[in-house]
Amino acid sequence: MGAVVPPIFQTSLFLFDTWDEFYKAKETQYDASPEGKCFYSRINNPTLDLVGEKVAALEHTERARLFTSGMSAISAAVMACTKTGGHIVCVDTCYGPTRDFLTDYMPRFGVETTFVVGDDPQEIFDAVRPETSAIFLESPSSIVFRLQDLEAVAKEAKKRGIRTLVDNSYCSPIFQTPADFGVDIVLHSASKYLCGHSDVVAGALATSNEIMREIMENEVQFLGASLPPFPSWLILRSMRTLAIRMRQHSETGDAVARWLRDRPEVERVFHPGFEDFPQRELFLKQMSGSSGLISFQLKDQDEGRLRSLTEALRLFRLGVSWGGHESLCIPLEYHPMDWPEQKWLVRLYCGLEHVDDLTADLDQAFAVGRPRF
Ligand SMILES: *Cc1c(COP(=O)(O)O)cnc(C)c1O
Repeated sequence: MGAVVPPIFQTSLFLFDTWDEFYKAKETQYDASPEGKCFYSRINNPTLDLVGEKVAALEHTERARLFTSGMSAISAAVMACTKTGGHIVCVDTCYGPTRDFLTDYMPRFGVETTFVVGDDPQEIFDAVRPETSAIFLESPSSIVFRLQDLEAVAKEAKKRGIRTLVDNSYCSPIFQTPADFGVDIVLHSASKYLCGHSDVVAGALATSNEIMREIMENEVQFLGASLPPFPSWLILRSMRTLAIRMRQHSETGDAVARWLRDRPEVERVFHPGFEDFPQRELFLKQMSGSSGLISFQLKDQDEGRLRSLTEALRLFRLGVSWGGHESLCIPLEYHPMDWPEQKWLVRLYCGLEHVDDLTADLDQAFAVGRPRF
């Protein structure tokens, strides 16, 4: 019919005229290219499959698929890579609920996790045990944006038969493709940049045919967290502008980070795009850009000061998540394992507003005086 945009296959099931067709579709439903029709939308659906193909192409993997959230993609991937009595090594500064899943939930199944700082591959492999089956990376990691050497970790892990997983939400496939460095499973909160419009919660998992086949037959079939057709279609819409949006988030994030660094109130800015970022060489090797997330620490660690600053912001609104059109901020107490003490940080997300409006917003918020007690 010449529609430039593919339709939404808003259907839960698919109909067959013959016994043979039915069984062919059933038997091939886990395959990358199922023969004939799709079978059941928990497993495959044309709209869902189309987004998966696009993510796989961008991530340079054989296959990819969308899940109902970043966490459902992450939990499915972790469960696919371990078993009772198993052990995982994970980066300490990973996304909070990922950390909680590994520390509070997986021990129910007899799976333990050791957390590492992650900037030295030797430290990661020192934490490996005979029963270690997975290394979970997040590069750059949440809040403090630490990198891990993807190639060094993936190479050594492969030798030892350990699977590597990377949460690639910060970069999106536009700025980093971990599979090129040998990483086995690439994960995304598609609620962030892949969606980009703050209207869908979704996740993505990109990997080889072999690993995806295993995940299809187990976690997809049994946990059933496949993204429904309509949100899949919304992600498809979003991905058309992903590269352009990422360029803008990168440019704005970089300008806001530099502006913040020059403020007398600011002690420290966390931003992997700085020329003097401690892991600059690794940044240049594995990333082609920094994105719209920045954190900073105020010199004044008083909670009241932080409260008045974050409430005074007009464009950076208080709210979780990120990756959409609108700027956001979160005040948070943070304590990575290698810091002597907990610090108050502010995480900013730079959306698609004009950079001058964003720095003007920060400027007026800094001008708001200390609250009276
Ligand atoms: C938000 C986020 C997730 C979780 O994704 P949801 O879609 O919210 O489940 C995972 N990793 C990172 C780095 C995130 O920021």
